[in-house]
Amino acid sequence: HVTVTVEPSLQVAPYACQRRTPLDHPNPALVMALETLAEAALFAGEEARGLAFTRAASVLRCLPRALQGTHELSGLPCIGGHSHRVLQEVLEDGVCAEVEAVKQSERYQTMKLFTQIFGVGVRTADCWYREGLRSLGDLQSHGTRLTRQQQAGVECFEDLAVPVGRAEAEGLACLVLDAAARLLPSASVTLAGGFRRGKPHGHDVDLLLSHPEEGREVGLLGPLVAWLEEQGLLLYQHSQHSSYTTTAEPSSSCGPLDRFERCFTILRLVLPATGTGVRAWRAVRLDLVVVPHSQLPFALLGWTGSRHFERELRRFARHEREMVLNSHGLYNMRQGTFLPASSEEEIFQHLGLDYIPPTLRNA
Ligand code: ATP
Ligand code: MN
Ligand code: MN
Repeated sequence: HVTVTVEPSLQVAPYACQRRTPLDHPNPALVMALETLAEAALFAGEEARGLAFTRAASVLRCLPRALQGTHELSGLPCIGGHSHRVLQEVLEDGVCAEVEAVKQSERYQTMKLFTQIFGVGVRTADCWYREGLRSLGDLQSHGTRLTRQQQAGVECFEDLAVPVGRAEAEGLACLVLDAAARLLPSASVTLAGGFRRGKPHGHDVDLLLSHPEEGREVGLLGPLVAWLEEQGLLLYQHSQHSSYTTTAEPSSSCGPLDRFERCFTILRLVLPATGTGVRAWRAVRLDLVVVPHSQLPFALLGWTGSRHFERELRRFARHEREMVLNSHGLYNMRQGTFLPASSEEEIFQHLGLDYIPPTLRNA
């Protein structure tokens, strides 16, 4: 007789913040195809289409096993007709013609290059593309006007294209903690961003600065940045003052931006000693964010990512719970009150969600 092994059917919750999404997963080729189309749509200014592809890719990221065929897609959320066709092609042929064409296109390659420059978004990159610019050399030969930030981004381009390793990120966190603790005893430094999700590499280092006594963190950033400057470690910085007020209407509609005091920098990362003649440092991007103690769990949740996980948490809060979540707090619209939390776990509890640890937020 014949033995048939039936794979357990795939079940996926509709919001990414209800799912456990590890860094490594069994469907990389399918995810890559959809994420390339998502990126291309964003490069074309088509945000809704980009989001649709991102959502579909995120569903595939959380599957516990390789997709066997398109018959398995019917029970899954967020897979639209276009995504379905792309997945079918990759499953059958190994590649999708549309995705390959996008990757080969001058438009996609140039937009990818320009948006990789620190301080350059889709709009600027699009302007440059339409002016006929195609390379970093073109920016210079056309005398394109750059902001101070973009200037620094172009100058450090090659260094910043090299991923930051986990050990390097932890080294920087220690350096900043030592300096912060000298200026303000008991100051804390938390490594957030992709590294907190378990990524071995990142495009930058995201650090949250705080102090266990509310209010003591105020005034820390200026002297800290000045110290980095004195050490000759600062290649670029721009700071923003805190614009947070408790009277402000809570909002998650202003995008991922928050109102913490912060400093975006390019730092000189000192490298382990090597032979003579070898440069002893490399430029890396470091973001410093100053957070009052009572907001730390919200800031930690907001700065750990992934970007899609954050977007989904906020959408879930608003549409399923009538709450507004951002990096400062959680606001219950029906009761008109803020819900305090002393840990990320408590925020998930307030939202009625199972706790998802950072390493499973790679949505
Ligand atoms: P990578 O490893 O490539 O750095 P990442 O996941 O750390 O990836 P980042 O762009 O560094 O990505 O952002 C980390 C998190 O911090 C994101 O989830 C994002 O929501 C949040 N974040 C980044 N920039 C801002 C900002 N200007 N304001 C508020 N939140 C931000
Ligand atoms: Mn980061
Ligand atoms: Mn960052």
